[in-house]
Amino acid sequence: METNPANSPRPCPICGKLPTPQNRPFCSTRCAGIDLGRWLKGNYRIPTEEAPDEGDGDES
Ligand SMILES: [Zn+2]
Repeated sequence: METNPANSPRPCPICGKLPTPQNRPFCSTRCAGIDLGRWLKGNYRIPTEEAPDEGDGDES
């Protein structure tokens, strides 16, 4: 059995399917979008140190 490391595409990180050349490393634009969404959610959560002084919509 021959080993060809160049011909070992990583599976889609989202669903594990083989990626397509158009959407590498994802298998589809959908999976690419899912990954992008995860990435944005994970990195867009910038902790705001600014504490709101005025209770905006405070229900108590
Ligand atoms: Zn996929």
